[in-house]
Amino acid sequence: MSGLPEDRSLELSGDALRDLVAAATERLVAHVASLPAQPAADTAGGTDLARSLRTDLPETGRPAEELLDLLFTRVIPKSFNTAGPGYLAYIPGGGLPHAAVADLISGITNRYVGVFAAAPGAVAIEADVVRWFCAMAGLPRDAGGVLTSGGSLSNFSALVAARRRLLPENFLDGTIYVSDQAHYSVAKAAMLAGFPERNVRKIATDAAFRVRADAIVEAIARDRAAGKRPFLLVGNAGTTNTGAVDDLDALAGIARRESLWYHVDAAYGGFFVLTERRRKALAGLERADSIALDPHKGLFLPYGTGALLVRDVAALRAAHAVTADYMPPMQDDPDCPDFSQLSPELSRGWRGLRVWLPISMHGIGPFRRNLDEKIDLTLWATEELRRIPGVEIVAEPQLSIVAFRLRRPGLDEKALTALNRDLLARVNARARVHLTSTMLGDRFAIRICVLSFRTHADRVRAGIEDLRTAISELI
Ligand SMILES: *Cc1c(COP(=O)(O)O)cnc(C)c1O
Repeated sequence: MSGLPEDRSLELSGDALRDLVAAATERLVAHVASLPAQPAADTAGGTDLARSLRTDLPETGRPAEELLDLLFTRVIPKSFNTAGPGYLAYIPGGGLPHAAVADLISGITNRYVGVFAAAPGAVAIEADVVRWFCAMAGLPRDAGGVLTSGGSLSNFSALVAARRRLLPENFLDGTIYVSDQAHYSVAKAAMLAGFPERNVRKIATDAAFRVRADAIVEAIARDRAAGKRPFLLVGNAGTTNTGAVDDLDALAGIARRESLWYHVDAAYGGFFVLTERRRKALAGLERADSIALDPHKGLFLPYGTGALLVRDVAALRAAHAVTADYMPPMQDDPDCPDFSQLSPELSRGWRGLRVWLPISMHGIGPFRRNLDEKIDLTLWATEELRRIPGVEIVAEPQLSIVAFRLRRPGLDEKALTALNRDLLARVNARARVHLTSTMLGDRFAIRICVLSFRTHADRVRAGIEDLRTAISELI
């Protein structure tokens, strides 16, 4: 067999691998060190940049140094700085570098965690992470779940598990109850699962943006009378708009009485259960049939890390398990899960390691203390906002989001929206913090969401200063 053409250039030598990692590491270290000085966002000219980056499939390569420079000088800076301390937009997280080191290890070792048989130790580590989360949420010992790419996929698999458990094959009468503040991924999950959009009932919320339990009960009764099949109730443990936490215990009671699957979307807020102060607000979480969590938010991990926890693993398996002749034997032992039987995915990366490594290195203590700090920073920001003449707090913080707007006498909603858009643009132009807005009913509101492990008092103070300055410019 000698003389066959072979190309070994993709098999990096030890030295070549070391040099490549070192070259990347050098730039990463400089990048992280300069994060506080980088703008909170810079996307001006982004379309031109995107066009200029386009290339044809190259036949031959370019030096790594040149490619890394392209990434770090041109590609990465032109963005929302989602890793930086000034990112107070949408829902931040930051991206722990330890998790990226874990990704390097899982990528290079390339172990297969879709089935237990292929990598029992790696699967055990990931199963342990799921178990930690279940215990944290207060689910029973035999609960389980999977790590997902994020809250959207967690909500999707939960919805499909509920459908499979409670509805017949012809499920088009099945109705779903969410609040008018629910994340749009629930409606998207319903759509992907084959439900008509009209089957998702968006139930009214109170002045604190919590779903009205009485309105849920009424909607269910109305639907039953009309021959519909209510099957799923989704509670919010921290809405994306304002961080509102529904009365999770009351919703659990409704779900039980009405024989519905009870899912809690805790993608943003779930990890606040780690804090003494917010555990009480999340009471009832432990009564859920399923829970969506986003470690890439409240545990500060890089994007692509979600979790779905389920009380009854068999329900998740029933909705996702299929077999084939070319697959290895599947496990019955609950301690040896085949993740592919619990998830839409088969082949995928070893997500568990990126959660396991940082938590194992530090313990959960620093995570809890960081979340406590974010609560304090949000409360502090809210008090500062209240002291600025003309500022109205539209949503008091329940977790780590505050929503507010500037008011001026005599302005109607349209004019107020324009005024606040202008204010938001002025604050963001200073680029020390980056904020986003939302609509709360008919009110345009600016949000501050503090959730990055890199955000501390100095940056929140800078954001309040920039708000004061921008408001004084508007007068
Ligand atoms: C972020 C978020 C989602 C969606 O999660 P992804 O990880 O972005 O897919 C769902 N629900 C809530 C409450 C969220 O904050």
